[in-house]
Amino acid sequence: MTATLTYRHLFGPGPSNCYPEAIAALGNPVLGHLDPLFLEIMDRACEGLRQVWGTANSRTLPLSGTGSAGMEAAFVNTVGPGDVAVIAVNGLFGGRMCEIARRAGAEVVRVEHPWGQPIDPERVAAAHPNPKVIAAVHAETSTGVLSDIAALGQLKGDALLIADAVTSIGGLELLADDWGIDVGYAGTQKCLGVAPGLSPFTISDAAFERRIKDPQSWYLDLGLLGGYVGSASGSRRTYHHTAPVTMIASLEAGVGRVLNEGLDAVQSRHAAAGLALQNGLQDMGLELFAAEGSRLPSLTTVKVPERVDSAAVRAYLLERFNIEIGAGVGEFASTVWRIGMMGPNANPDSVVLVLGALQEALTKARR
Ligand SMILES: *Cc1c(COP(=O)(O)O)cnc(C)c1O
Repeated sequence: MTATLTYRHLFGPGPSNCYPEAIAALGNPVLGHLDPLFLEIMDRACEGLRQVWGTANSRTLPLSGTGSAGMEAAFVNTVGPGDVAVIAVNGLFGGRMCEIARRAGAEVVRVEHPWGQPIDPERVAAAHPNPKVIAAVHAETSTGVLSDIAALGQLKGDALLIADAVTSIGGLELLADDWGIDVGYAGTQKCLGVAPGLSPFTISDAAFERRIKDPQSWYLDLGLLGGYVGSASGSRRTYHHTAPVTMIASLEAGVGRVLNEGLDAVQSRHAAAGLALQNGLQDMGLELFAAEGSRLPSLTTVKVPERVDSAAVRAYLLERFNIEIGAGVGEFASTVWRIGMMGPNANPDSVVLVLGALQEALTKARR
């Protein structure tokens, strides 16, 4: 029996529909991980990542693992027992950072913020006199909030700044070098429009010099990963682990797609789609969750109206329209919806489709 796959519009926060270029690359012949042709693809992927990160860091590469692997790599390579990690928390992913830093042995100074609000850079910077790292999430996918990483970069002092750019890379302005990001990690499946599985990662030379030698993770030890990337033209590729060649080829194609469109154009497209969605939701009488002025275009959070069954509306959208929107997170699981406008979905047609479908679902739900 062959299963029929229904095309679904995924406006959830997770893997949305990918750019066709990224999908097409998944069907190409699978190259050997030492094949010179693959090294060229890896080189182009790393160069493209430098551009979407806004960095000149030579150590910019796709880690073999999802965004959370990047998060783990950021901490295990920079903090160990005795090191202080100041971490801004305004949602689920800031909390995950704390847990990872704790397991790496760091003394964690957790700076809490209300969910739905951006981080307060001054309060975060003042939380400890001399931390080894300060960390924050640029775009909190659990709450739909954008925080000012550049402002935190100005205040970081001697600390290394770790930034989570999973839901901003490839969709929102991201200038790692200008903003003072020392270590950054991201994911492929949010605005980059590539399937999940890799973590675009970058670390400055200065941060690399101050890294933990012999971190508890062998797999994510950045000291060992230099030769893994290799170069088609120069340094020989040395074996560390077998590169996920197909995913890297897909990433290279997806990032190439984004750069061909142009970073400015891609960012404008995300901004316009997010704003149109947010205006449309408010026109329907719905209330947005994230604080005004700090709303992510790529992920919109909206309050579920009184007496409406959140799960029933989501199920209706999926069954009737093939549209997936996300539930809320944590204590907001059944009171907030999360609607993504990411990658290829960040376009005016998606906005019209999701608003119309939600209107119909709400009419039914209220009956
Ligand atoms: C999705 C996400 C992650 C985790 O990425 P995975 O690919 O699910 O491991 C981390 N941080 C943020 C802000 C995210 O949106």
